[in-house]
Amino acid sequence: MLPDAAGCTHGSLPTTVKGKAPEQGCVYLVGAGPGDPELLTLRAVRLLQKADVIVYDQLVSPGIFDLVPSTVERIDAGKRRNEHTLRQEQINALLVQLGQAGKQVVRLKGGDPFIFGRGGEELQALAAHGVAFEVVPGVTAASGVSAYAGIPLTHRHFAQRCLFVTGHLQDGTADLDWPSLVRTQQTVVIYMGLTGLPDICRQMMAHGAAPHWPIAVVQDGSLATQKVITGTLLDMADRVAQAGLQSPCLIIIGEVVGLHQELAWFEAGQVR
Ligand code: SAH
Repeated sequence: MLPDAAGCTHGSLPTTVKGKAPEQGCVYLVGAGPGDPELLTLRAVRLLQKADVIVYDQLVSPGIFDLVPSTVERIDAGKRRNEHTLRQEQINALLVQLGQAGKQVVRLKGGDPFIFGRGGEELQALAAHGVAFEVVPGVTAASGVSAYAGIPLTHRHFAQRCLFVTGHLQDGTADLDWPSLVRTQQTVVIYMGLTGLPDICRQMMAHGAAPHWPIAVVQDGSLATQKVITGTLLDMADRVAQAGLQSPCLIIIGEVVGLHQELAWFEAGQVR
């Protein structure tokens, strides 16, 4: 139980479940941030230490579990690309079942649960079954990874707008609104774009982006294994292939990438 941590047990239940008894279960949809455990919110840490069970995704970095008491049950919900350990419907059903059994559940997701995290779908399932829930935001990859790569997403001289898009492939190609992505004075952040990178660069150029546009690909942002590769739309696919980058990788496109050299501060492998 979470006697002093949770609105769920203190009567501030979401409207969907108002009036239910306070000893009922609750699912806390918690963002774990991009990797460095120090980027967890205080609320996330408090909930992790008092939960009955944690249902976590593959993207949650192992270091975060150092903060979890060994008595807390852990369930791996997987979510590796195309080989989900549990299918989304099974995850939804599991959360409903745990909540209905009276458990205090932390549903732990990488980054922020409301940004490309299917958090909304999971909450809809809980709401439909009258299970109480709360949301704890996390540092999304766009903010966390760009910060550790020394690439400000906006800058008065280079970008007054920032787009977050998914590069997840449908039928082998990234189906994106290309004209909106190739505008100048903006930064484009692409989640889940590693596999589609060659196609993304090609499409950007085909829709009017100059071949020399700066682009960065960051692997394992905020972790000791962080790698930052910078280049242009023209040469990035080759550079990334040569460097052998692995998922998770975040793509950042725009003039702000040029600031990396000057502003990089985080050294991969450093002890913090
Ligand atoms: N909800 C998460 C995003 C889930 S989608 C969030 O808010 O961050 C998964 C994608 O996030 C990955 O494919 C990658 O593009 C990005 N990502 C998450 N963590 C990352 C990290 N530490 N380094 C680089 N990219 C990361």
